[in-house]
Amino acid sequence: MGLSRTIRCRTAESAGKLSKHLIKLGSGMGKSYPGYLFIQIGSLKCVNYLARKLSIGSIIITGTNGKTTSTKITILLLTKDAKLTFNYESNTINAIVTGLLTGKVDLGVFEYGIRDVKHGIPDTVCKIVDPVGVVYTNISREHSQVSGRENPFEEYLMAKQLLSTPMKRGVVICNADDPRTTIIGKNKEQDTKVTYYGLDIDLEDKTPLTGDVFCPLCHGNLVYSKRYLNHRGIYECISCGFKRPEPDIKLTKLLLEKEKWWVSLVGEIYNYSTDKNVSIDLQVPLPAFGIHNLYNLLCAVTTYVSFTPQPENIKKTIIDTCETLDLSILPPGRFEIFKVKDKWVGMGQGDNGDALKANIQFMESYLGDDITGNTAFIYTTPDEGEDEIFEDHLSSLNSLNPVIVHVIPGRESVEAGRSYYNILKESLHADFYPLSHEDMDKRIDKIRDLVKESSYKYIIVSGCGPEQYMWGNLKLRCKSHKKNS
Ligand SMILES: [Zn+2]
Repeated sequence: MGLSRTIRCRTAESAGKLSKHLIKLGSGMGKSYPGYLFIQIGSLKCVNYLARKLSIGSIIITGTNGKTTSTKITILLLTKDAKLTFNYESNTINAIVTGLLTGKVDLGVFEYGIRDVKHGIPDTVCKIVDPVGVVYTNISREHSQVSGRENPFEEYLMAKQLLSTPMKRGVVICNADDPRTTIIGKNKEQDTKVTYYGLDIDLEDKTPLTGDVFCPLCHGNLVYSKRYLNHRGIYECISCGFKRPEPDIKLTKLLLEKEKWWVSLVGEIYNYSTDKNVSIDLQVPLPAFGIHNLYNLLCAVTTYVSFTPQPENIKKTIIDTCETLDLSILPPGRFEIFKVKDKWVGMGQGDNGDALKANIQFMESYLGDDITGNTAFIYTTPDEGEDEIFEDHLSSLNSLNPVIVHVIPGRESVEAGRSYYNILKESLHADFYPLSHEDMDKRIDKIRDLVKESSYKYIIVSGCGPEQYMWGNLKLRCKSHKKNS
């Protein structure tokens, strides 16, 4: 690096750190402004100067669902064994750089969301942050349009892949049960270590797949011998032989109790910090939080075991962390199950087909088969141009077959909500409430009233809607109602 660039990077670093300090004193702004300022003064090339200050390096976590939860659990685990800087729920290079503007630490752990190539810069991010780990949770179709532009699934998948494409060292961590993250791993095996994680449990997803799942190699049909959660399972392509790799680390022996779940974590994987293989074999308790969160936990444990500089602590750190894990780790819009008078209500965000389906599956595993024939569904629709998400939702709704579906627009367009309702009512008993996005309070009150007045034993409320603005507030109001009456 030339002298003038070094000076420029150092100036940017001082300005960034100063603004980070000032923001801590004030409020708001916090997660990305210092990084933005740093890039303005120092340019993207200076990010590499910051990234090299970490003694081990950076880990970037991406995927469609579960990024935030996986990142948070990874942080809880790694922070016991190493000095960390981190950022989650922010999803931009500015946020990653804000995290990098720190003192001397071992590891950076960053969530990074990529909606498409145009709005993200995944390969640039990889080049300048130079991560030692890129971690994939899962890849499902979502946001088929981004800012009015078509975002075909192939491009979306490509954008995710680009985040690890430039890597020449470190570990790429992939979900073996997801053919779309597996293919990313398969393509990286000649460049870096690739570690695969997966489930090995008895529980099966018996409902149909939402959308077709094609072989990522030859576009032939994938055949599943077992599915754990929608397109995640044990698959094989009959045309080309592409199949689910044997996971290096597995979650096995799931034991469901009402308030607590037990699982075993077993495997032997490569640890980057010590350049040695390490093995784990232990049993831990977890909150009852759904199969999708088992994936998030396993993803986090895999990341932790791959990067902890103190592998001798692994067993104790994982057990201590799992024993104290509770539902507050999950985001405000998360699906949760609670009682309102004598009714069981499952409520929370299900922004894409995969997420909504995971919610239904959680409700079924929590309450059992009794929900068939006794369930009302309050469905909040996707927006205009999100037909693919709707198709996935509809397939899950049809397979659950609720007694009634109350349809409410979940995003901005009421007319889109109406057109989705018109399709939905062809196969399900349904009604429609054309409530506007501007008057969110009315939407929330209506949903609360529908829950309150429903004559069914079980009510699921899920679909699209803003995290805190809708789901967070809705849950608060339903719960306070629960206390007041
Ligand atoms: Zn194939």
